[in-house]
Amino acid sequence: MDQVVLVTGGSRGIGAATALLAARQGYAVAVNYRQDAAAAQAVVTAIEASGGRAIAIQADVSSEVDVERMFREVARQLGTLTALVNNAGILEQQTRVEHLDAARLRRIFDTNVIGSFLCAREAVRCMSTRRGGQGGAIVNVSSRAAVLGSAGEYVDYAASKGAVDTLTVGLAHEVAGEGIRVNSVRPGLITTDMHASGGEPERVARLSAGVPMGRGGEPEEVARAILWLLSEEASYTTGAILDVSGGR
Ligand code: NDP
Repeated sequence: MDQVVLVTGGSRGIGAATALLAARQGYAVAVNYRQDAAAAQAVVTAIEASGGRAIAIQADVSSEVDVERMFREVARQLGTLTALVNNAGILEQQTRVEHLDAARLRRIFDTNVIGSFLCAREAVRCMSTRRGGQGGAIVNVSSRAAVLGSAGEYVDYAASKGAVDTLTVGLAHEVAGEGIRVNSVRPGLITTDMHASGGEPERVARLSAGVPMGRGGEPEEVARAILWLLSEEASYTTGAILDVSGGR
């Protein structure tokens, strides 16, 4: 069976590294993005230049209409989905809890939690052997923040990633008998655009020094863990949460 993967937020950072590595491993790749069509197209062009198959696909993962359209489009253009990487995620400026408002909480939870749920739901509808599908694998991209809590900085983001981990464990058990494995990677500090704004560069330097391995990670180092969890090498692994954090 041809391997077809959808990588949400596949246009930059960890998602782009995952899309590129998946293509090198023989997957046809759907590269989802929300706003930056040029970045997504650059990933598709790089994949095609090395002989792979890819499409760029716009969708806001927090929109049910967008997500349903995206999955229909992937099936039409690439064939039956065999893998989903729920990677799209957002982080906002560091702030203490007394400055959080409902609008910010909704933005964070809409993308990080509801987006992951909606995409997982559509993937299960495609893959479940109970519904006539061929099975498959899902990897959710969580964060070490889920266990560290990010006190004084991003408690909202950390809580959203805690929800992603619970989704992983619950869904893994729910669909274990239907040919679908569900796992999470939990990255530590990874050098991507997510940390490019506000006071982040100084914070990133400080945090990198505190990582036991003494550095932030590269997006490709997370991508390799994601591709392993998607692969047959991980055929008996489901409901697992794999830290990729340099020991942090
Ligand atoms: P980036 O900010 O570099 O990229 C985010 C990607 O997500 C972009 O492709 C963006 O598309 C897309 N995106 C954002 N919101 C939506 C949405 N609503 N619908 C569809 N796509 C969306 O992020 P990273 O690569 O750093 O992070 C990727 C994942 O890894 C996230 O879930 C993040 O929480 C997690 N993570 C990152 C860590 C880090 O240190 N970088 C550490 C731990 C976890 P567009 O540009 O078009 O908006």
